[in-house]
Amino acid sequence: MSIEENIKNIKSSIPSNVTLIAVSKTKPEEDLIAAYNCGQRAFGENKAQEMKRKHENLPEDIQWHFIGHLQENKIKYIISYVTLIHSVDSLKLLKEINKYALKNNRKVDCLFEIDISKEESKFGLTYKEVCGILDSEDYKQLDNIRICGVMGIGSITDDREQTRKEFKELRDIFIDLKNKYFANEEHFKEISMGMTHDYEMAIEEGATIIRIGSKIFGARDYSKQ
Ligand SMILES: *Cc1c(COP(=O)(O)O)cnc(C)c1O
Repeated sequence: MSIEENIKNIKSSIPSNVTLIAVSKTKPEEDLIAAYNCGQRAFGENKAQEMKRKHENLPEDIQWHFIGHLQENKIKYIISYVTLIHSVDSLKLLKEINKYALKNNRKVDCLFEIDISKEESKFGLTYKEVCGILDSEDYKQLDNIRICGVMGIGSITDDREQTRKEFKELRDIFIDLKNKYFANEEHFKEISMGMTHDYEMAIEEGATIIRIGSKIFGARDYSKQ
């Protein structure tokens, strides 16, 4: 099926209040254009330089979501236009994002990446670590970032109940953070979870943003990188 049909099928099967991010990492610009031409505006990338190149070459009104591990020395490639950074996993990174955001005279929306899968290779924070950041004096000085919610990546597993447990955990963490720190802040509302193989379950468990790559663009070929 074509990119257009894939997007149409996904969009017609999800609630209208769930944001679909088309994860276009490794894909050529013509694939993004095909998605853009059928109305898709939110795209996800996990490499800062790749996102910069695509941002420069593609239409202005695309919303760029950064979903990968962000190195501090790469913030400069995305800070002036990024819509949402999904993958904040330390206070140090948050402080650097704030510094560059200030230089660019903007406020940048961010999510805390939560380690729900407990796989060794994955990044992310525990609930306690997030509380540690939000309670710190350093955090209170950060006027150029805005925390809008949480993001998580489920385990790579065929065990559906394991994945469901992880999504429930992320939602519980979201609710606890909301109650403890953001009760009066309307913008703290996002739960970014669910990919090609588990997005339907993620929506059942409360996802507000889903990140879908292969189901839209086909399998990725990393050998061409
Ligand atoms: C690659 C990636 C996705 C999309 O994965 P698919 O399985 O192709 O849908 C979603 N989220 C993150 C963080 C990713 O790195």
